[in-house]
Amino acid sequence: MVKIYWTKIKDVVEESPETKTYILECPEGFTWEEGAHTHLALEGFNAGEKPDRSLIRHMSICTLPDEKAIGITTRVREERSEFKERLDALGIGGQVALFKTHSNVPLKREGKAVYLLSSGVGIATFRPLVLDYLNNSDMVNKIHSLNIDSSKNYLFPDLFAPEGLNGLTSEFVDDRSGYYDRVKQLAEDKEGLFYVVGSDEFLSENIAILRSEGIRPEQIMLDKHEQSRQALLV
Ligand SMILES: Cc1cc2nc3c(=O)[nH]c(=O)nc-3n(C[C@H](O)[C@H](O)[C@H](O)COP(=O)(O)OP(=O)(O)OC[C@H]3O[C@@H](n4cnc5c(N)ncnc54)[C@H](O)[C@@H]3O)c2cc1C
Repeated sequence: MVKIYWTKIKDVVEESPETKTYILECPEGFTWEEGAHTHLALEGFNAGEKPDRSLIRHMSICTLPDEKAIGITTRVREERSEFKERLDALGIGGQVALFKTHSNVPLKREGKAVYLLSSGVGIATFRPLVLDYLNNSDMVNKIHSLNIDSSKNYLFPDLFAPEGLNGLTSEFVDDRSGYYDRVKQLAEDKEGLFYVVGSDEFLSENIAILRSEGIRPEQIMLDKHEQSRQALLV
């Protein structure tokens, strides 16, 4: 039986003109690890015999449990799905459900450098990894984040600052060729761990470059179940 946690929106933060973070109350017994994604569902999703998929989305949790809140960061554009329309209309106090929460990309503490490669709002998945590292950097040599966002509305700029604290550095770029040039340069660290978050096309392009630079599949972390990860990495 899947445990469903109903909770309420306690705040909505406008990160940029098209991006919002929905801050949810933390239901009793709900726990997660850094890098976790969850299923976010709207009222009515389980009213029929089968779950109504149009009322469910995968979403990463951009907070850590010690922040005592569940943050979900997502694009809410003018042209938006029915799901986003309904989510946004809920406002503070609105009810949502969470279930099947799992992290495929916890922070690996193997005495190596960690490179976080993301596209757009994908950087939200990495926010808790970076916070976890800043809380405790044991067995992590350094973290470098590279994010591409053509909108130039870069997310979490205070945390992902160019010269961050304690071995954390970050950069944002707005064009693809500049982005892939940087990925090649980062792949000069042949022992680094490379985390990639974005669309499947973005994952495939990053994997192709990393592999051509001699990075091994076990050094590449994706927010996918092991079977899907393997399929992308062959
Ligand atoms: C493991 C995992 C983790 C994920 N984590 C996150 C996360 O943390 N944050 C996140 O945002 N997503 C995340 N996603 C993706 C998420 O599940 C959704 O697929 C994504 O947010 C798109 O949502 P949507 O389908 O409601 O469309 P929308 O975001 O509303 O729209 C998608 C695109 O279509 C356009 N569009 C929508 N409707 C119309 C229309 N009627 N006319 C014209 N254009 C339209 C929009 O402008 C937009 O460009 C994750 C996915 C996975 C698998």
